[in-house]
Amino acid sequence: MTDEGRKRATPNILVTGTPGTGKTSTCSLLASATGLRHINVGELVKEKSLHDGWDAELDCYVVNDDLLCDEMEDMMRDGGNLVDYHNCDFFPERWFDYVVVLQTDNSVLYDRLTNRGYMGRKLQNNMECEIFQVLLEDAHEFYNVDIVRALPSNTIEDMSNNVEILSGLIRAWGNNT
Ligand code: ADP
Ligand code: MN
Repeated sequence: MTDEGRKRATPNILVTGTPGTGKTSTCSLLASATGLRHINVGELVKEKSLHDGWDAELDCYVVNDDLLCDEMEDMMRDGGNLVDYHNCDFFPERWFDYVVVLQTDNSVLYDRLTNRGYMGRKLQNNMECEIFQVLLEDAHEFYNVDIVRALPSNTIEDMSNNVEILSGLIRAWGNNT
């Protein structure tokens, strides 16, 4: 529901999960299949400098949540967005009609992250993030559990299934209530 109590014509979906679980790949396919807009939040932060500099220790930008949410607000109001990000704890709850948490088995994720060049503390932090299901817990804490879905993302087959499932939700959105 929007602030005005009216339903958006097309849903907004947050696709979250530990880095490497397949958010960007899944959102690209889903955007092609459905015509929804893929917002890669990490890219947006870089492009529009929505950060307070680089954290050399954690090897990532220090995202400025307020600047980021201001930047996204207008797009989110219209609906039809796939928001791709590895955090979910600072977006307004009202933005999302579904929250999807992608999950990957440890050994598979380890290989993906090392292939990406992650090592040391960054690799360890991300592995722990997945082992302790941080994103699923956060999603349950910050959103209505009824709109949160955990989906496995280990294989290409999982990815096609997930795109199928989510395309179905998007198609069905206009039909009920
Ligand atoms: P994220 O955006 O969550 O960090 P990516 O979509 O960039 O993850 O995926 C990381 C790597 O893992 C990419 O090389 C991608 O092709 C691969 N990958 C992601 N999901 C799957 C999957 N379900 N099956 C096989 N490979 C995958
Ligand atoms: Mn990504």
